[in-house]
Amino acid sequence: MDKKDIQPLIIAIDGYSSCGKSTLAKQIAKELHYVFVDSGAMYRAVTLYFIENDINIEDENKVLDALKHIDVTFKNINGVNTTFLNRKNVETEIRSLKVSQLVSEVSAISAVRKKMVALQRNMSGSQGLVMDGRDIGTVVFPNADIKFFITADPIVRAQRRFNELVAKNQKTDLHEVISNLEHRDKIDTEREDSPLKKADDAILLDNTHFDIEQQFKVAMQYIYGVIH
Ligand code: C5P
Repeated sequence: MDKKDIQPLIIAIDGYSSCGKSTLAKQIAKELHYVFVDSGAMYRAVTLYFIENDINIEDENKVLDALKHIDVTFKNINGVNTTFLNRKNVETEIRSLKVSQLVSEVSAISAVRKKMVALQRNMSGSQGLVMDGRDIGTVVFPNADIKFFITADPIVRAQRRFNELVAKNQKTDLHEVISNLEHRDKIDTEREDSPLKKADDAILLDNTHFDIEQQFKVAMQYIYGVIH
């Protein structure tokens, strides 16, 4: 059977911060010719809008009003999945530490989640979809065909994230990266609305001792097991 003939599936990938979820999701989408959606980028874009427009996130009315003016979309630019906020390319800005430092607080707001989840559900068309995030297998697509829950040792995650930022010439500090990951994991797992947790039917994948290719191989074995 040709890979392109496979019935399109919804594949949900959830897990802790900087576990390589997006890397895996991109690899799977490329392999199966599926659409890839980085749901974290959407929450990051909302956070950037709030920062740029001085929105006090404690003020419910201001938040609700701001949400009406936010549009987040993706475009493939030279093979790179790129995030747009109100038609402006914000791919680099949304990865900055100032956004990372506020994104979990913004993501804990129910009105924000409601809007993002509606947009995410609309992204499943006739083509297969791979979406990564924190609540994809539990809330956004509870009936997803395949669910992965990714985890790794926190120090290994922080080191990987640090190396990534250095490679992108972003000013960074390992201790700052570690404390940001701890901070986000804590808020993401403890929030009331859609906390980060493993769906009962998700496959647990600990990649502490895997490199990117090993992780991809293991995930594809599961996927082909479901497809065939
Ligand atoms: O995936 P990434 O680390 O870029 O996500 C940034 C933040 O967005 C997470 O720490 C979390 O607070 C939030 N998020 C979320 N639900 C998702 C995806 C991301 O709350 N589905």
